[in-house]
Amino acid sequence: MLQIETQAVGPFMKNGFIVACERTRQAVYIDPGDEVSGLLAYAKRHDLAIQHILLTHAHVDHVSGVAAARRALGVRIYLHRDDEFLYEDAVQHGLLFGLQVEPPPPVDEYYSPGQVIAFGDYEVRPHHTPGHCPGGVCLQVGKIGEAGQDLFVGDTLFAGSIGRTDLPGGDYQTLIASIRDVLFRFGDGARVYPGHGPATTIGQERRTNPFLQAE
Ligand SMILES: [Zn+2]
Ligand SMILES: [Zn+2]
Repeated sequence: MLQIETQAVGPFMKNGFIVACERTRQAVYIDPGDEVSGLLAYAKRHDLAIQHILLTHAHVDHVSGVAAARRALGVRIYLHRDDEFLYEDAVQHGLLFGLQVEPPPPVDEYYSPGQVIAFGDYEVRPHHTPGHCPGGVCLQVGKIGEAGQDLFVGDTLFAGSIGRTDLPGGDYQTLIASIRDVLFRFGDGARVYPGHGPATTIGQERRTNPFLQAE
């Protein structure tokens, strides 16, 4: 079984996720942000061995805890290459909000097409979903060799809404194409864990999301 712990704190209320294999206790940390101390405590309490730090994209709310997570865990950091400019700009981006953000350490590995990142009995497959920003990805999690049905989508898709496209590198048509051509292909039963707000499913969003109704 997959064990998922979600935490979010102000001001951004961005979801950070620990996703763990219940059998082996191996896990990944997706998008370490301001909730980092809470999720690291959770991992310790549940005796989880975090193997990788995986980023859905590099906006400051999704990377503000990377330095602390890396220091505590000593594991590799993954990001899409096209978001490197945002990653390098995270400290400046934080200052715009009046926040002191610790500079995130260098990325260890850029996602590549067809890549498989393993933890315990599970694997993560990154899928490029630009539009909210150039290097956004959907992280598909499933048992090794099976079609994963748990999708960590960053700020591409939300329950009842979609990501904003007015930030640097954002593009509305590209975002809609990412949702329709990449996310919808996982099927209606796929579970969606957005970067903000509650979880949903592809079917629920395909049927009811006002931004995604066929014209
Ligand atoms: Zn974002
Ligand atoms: Zn966000």
